[in-house]
Amino acid sequence: MKVVKFGGSSLASATQLEKVFNIVKEDETRQYVVVSAPGKRNAEDTKVTDALIKYYKEYTNGKDTSQSQEWIINRYRSITEELDLNEEIIEEIARDIISLATLPKSDNTFLYDTFLAAGENNNAKLIAAYFVKKGLEAKYIHPKDAGIFVTSEPCNARILPSSYDKIEELRNHNEILVIPGFFGITKEGQVCTFSRGGSDITGSIIAAGVKADLYENFTDVDGIFAAHPGIIKHPHSIPELTYKEMRELAYAGFSVLHDEALVPAYRGKIPMVIKNTNNPKHPGTKIVLNHTNENVKVVGIAGDSGFVSINTTKYLMNREVGFGRKLLQILEDLNISWDHMPTGIDDLSVILRSKELTPIKEQEILKHLIQDLQVDYAEIEHDLSIIMIVGENMKNQIGVTATATKALSENNINIQMISQGSSEVSIMFVVNQEQEKQAIKALYNVFFN
Ligand code: ASP
Repeated sequence: MKVVKFGGSSLASATQLEKVFNIVKEDETRQYVVVSAPGKRNAEDTKVTDALIKYYKEYTNGKDTSQSQEWIINRYRSITEELDLNEEIIEEIARDIISLATLPKSDNTFLYDTFLAAGENNNAKLIAAYFVKKGLEAKYIHPKDAGIFVTSEPCNARILPSSYDKIEELRNHNEILVIPGFFGITKEGQVCTFSRGGSDITGSIIAAGVKADLYENFTDVDGIFAAHPGIIKHPHSIPELTYKEMRELAYAGFSVLHDEALVPAYRGKIPMVIKNTNNPKHPGTKIVLNHTNENVKVVGIAGDSGFVSINTTKYLMNREVGFGRKLLQILEDLNISWDHMPTGIDDLSVILRSKELTPIKEQEILKHLIQDLQVDYAEIEHDLSIIMIVGENMKNQIGVTATATKALSENNINIQMISQGSSEVSIMFVVNQEQEKQAIKALYNVFFN
């Protein structure tokens, strides 16, 4: 039994919906269909979710909303007309879109979420109606009835663990259930969305809840590429990844899937596959708990810019009990989250994303390092990139770092820091931001070409 989730680009037009229908019809184990709101039909187009944001702003600022309402309703209408669905469905959608602009503006913490969720909610109704028209036994189900209960954190909902028992009851349904992604219901009955792109999370929650055999996530690419296609021309799609590897790649900039979407499926031990709606025969990328092939050492090369390093040096640092704690305390007091900590005997660096800092926070950090920790030298280095070589099978394998460093040196790339966790899932190099692309190319060539 499978849970299938379709992203916005897979649902942007009648042509796309036909492909979706064929994918669902072709395999009768595809019993739960989680959908996004209609996405972009081309690069210049607007996502329905973004149009709803505009609509919300106009409404709350007391501006005229009629054009936005019309645009959104027409977006659905163009699909229902092309699919030749009866008038009832578009009338229902139109009523719902218009009614958003009658909701109370004050004391309404979840107003924004309610506007946003309308994109997926109406799309799920439309898609269920289309499936029924095409002869599938399908039914739209609201997250409240599906049991998706979430915390009361607007735009950042978290699933409540108690939801899973209720979601499991969906197994008692015989028809294909079409479930809107992206939002759940709070205990008080309010609509609350996950963060942007959160339909992936809904799919994962449903898969874990109904204990699916597979969670299929359909997008518009042939799975997850081994390197960024903007840097490597036609990188190959990775056939199999583990959840740990996916987490490492996602951390360093691979954004095919919402990273929070990995958690429910991972905890529920549900394998996942990323597939292409426009090329469904392609096997895509399977995300599993353990590799089936132990010979593949490196699965992907990722890189991400926008890092800074707080570098400190102090003579005899290694003998000073509590130095590390005091340094991290400075960051904690400023509410700064850090990512890596490469060390030498007498030096210690903390690597973090530049968005964690402000000029004032930087001054504070340097002041404390010099005055309180009495370091000999402290600096904050900007414009760094991290490069990650990812592969769980690297563990206990000899020579991966040697191969990588040789390739980097041959391309004249200076490695500023190296770090590898004990799990050996990845090797991280810190390089100057300007050399990031070159480094990724060198590593892709040496490991994959
Ligand atoms: N429609 C929402 C967004 O654009 C959620 C999603 O598509 O997953 O963020």
